Amino acid sequence: MIEIPESFTISQQASETLKGKTIAHIIEPNSLHRFAFYNGDPAGYSGILVGRTIQTARGHGCFVDILMDEDTHLLIGDGTHICYHTSTEKAPKKYQLMIVFEDNSFLAFTVSMYGSIYAFKGEFDNPYYQGSLHKPCPLDERFDKVYFLSIIKNLKKDLSAKALLATEQRIPGLGNGVVQDILFNARIAPKRKISTLTEKEIDRLFHTLKSTLEEMTRQGGRDTEKDLYGILGNYRTILSKNTYHTPCPACGGRIIKEAYLGGSVYYCPHCQPA
Ligand SMILES: [Zn+2]
Repeated sequence: MIEIPESFTISQQASETLKGKTIAHIIEPNSLHRFAFYNGDPAGYSGILVGRTIQTARGHGCFVDILMDEDTHLLIGDGTHICYHTSTEKAPKKYQLMIVFEDNSFLAFTVSMYGSIYAFKGEFDNPYYQGSLHKPCPLDERFDKVYFLSIIKNLKKDLSAKALLATEQRIPGLGNGVVQDILFNARIAPKRKISTLTEKEIDRLFHTLKSTLEEMTRQGGRDTEKDLYGILGNYRTILSKNTYHTPCPACGGRIIKEAYLGGSVYYCPHCQPA
């Protein structure tokens, strides 16, 4: 899934690699996917995208926003994988969209569990997109301690640490993937209620939230997710599906895997006590 480190990494790569390329044609999905989301019929994307030239790309929240002339956007999010191929490379067998440039290089979009591929001109009235554009990102200076405390103050009920960070898009692009290492670094269990956290723990959570995401982004995304070229990121996840069979790197204890709030959580019961 695209989360903050991946949306920044992929959009930076897209800016470098795709800038100046003009879209020659669109190839419609060859495989139906119940949870691939489009705005309208993807057959209509040709009318929006063909002839447009890519100017830059921006990452915000879980979105990679590719900007073209005539205020045209190609927006991908969640579990959509965007992969760049040169003209000599083969297309994947199944895809949910392909975009071919005038030089015959192309982008292939594939959706695993669920994902979005939107094409539009001007504004796009989607609450997740608008939230990701306007709410401060933990990588920004605007996301400071005062802002973080205001998120906690505005909670309508006592939530767990995972719910605070990774649900309801309070912090766009912070999802079930990156939250594992943030909470491990803060030494806070995913199910700990916010009301039980000391001032010191809240301060630690704020700092690890920022520093963990900065480190993941600096290293080109997590090693569980692929970049624009289909290559896994360099950030070695501490707690993920890749690592939970190995002992806790801090204490050597056994890592717990549990289903919690729409996804697995991994934690060390010794380092992150309930
Ligand atoms: Zn431990």
